[in-house]
Amino acid sequence: MIIVLLGPPGAGKGTQTGPLARKYQIVGISTGDIFRFNLNAGTPLGLEAKNFMNQGLLVPDDLTCRLVEDRLSQPDAQNGCLLDGFPRTVYQAEELEKYLAKKGQKVDYCLLLDIPEKELMARLTGRRVCRSCAAVWHLTFSPPPANLVCDRCGGEIYQRDDDGEVAASNRLKVYQAQTQPVVDWYKAKGTLKTVTALGPPAEVEKAIIKAMS
Ligand code: AMP
Repeated sequence: MIIVLLGPPGAGKGTQTGPLARKYQIVGISTGDIFRFNLNAGTPLGLEAKNFMNQGLLVPDDLTCRLVEDRLSQPDAQNGCLLDGFPRTVYQAEELEKYLAKKGQKVDYCLLLDIPEKELMARLTGRRVCRSCAAVWHLTFSPPPANLVCDRCGGEIYQRDDDGEVAASNRLKVYQAQTQPVVDWYKAKGTLKTVTALGPPAEVEKAIIKAMS
């Protein structure tokens, strides 16, 4: 089963990816996490992506598509996968479709996490994440441990550079300009299911599972 999780920055894609991937026994693949891991580790890929990420812009399509194709060719992705944050442009959606068609596969579900735009800035700027395992907290809604040490893996809890006001606001604009057309693209194909992403994560997860059944 191949699932694409779409939605604006701050809709909760990262929060839903782990539980859903476990439920459907497929691997969760977040392009944002892969870029951040490389950025933190100072790899050539991370250095190439850094300026785009820190400004809230998309990393160029060719680099992103190569990264995803490489990840999808790994043994743990052969059973299916949940893609979080990819595709984000129509070009990426078309490349994904071509790549999967070569393997006799297709995207089975495209799930859109829908949320009013006015909610998003507060969600993004209050978000804190673990540098090691990518677990997510929010200063108001689910505060992190006071010592900013992850209670799951012991990693450092920090604010992503692109969750500051300026980059976060850019990311929302980029979403409207470049990723909203991807939503329309999947809608035209009849693959899109829309789920309201307000409310506690467990409720959103239930709504997603219901939409897929
Ligand atoms: P995310 O963690 O999904 O919010 O992604 C963080 C940042 O990584 C984005 O703002 C982009 O700079 C980059 N990124 C993640 N996924 C993609 C993608 N599919 N295409 C281009 N850039 C991406």
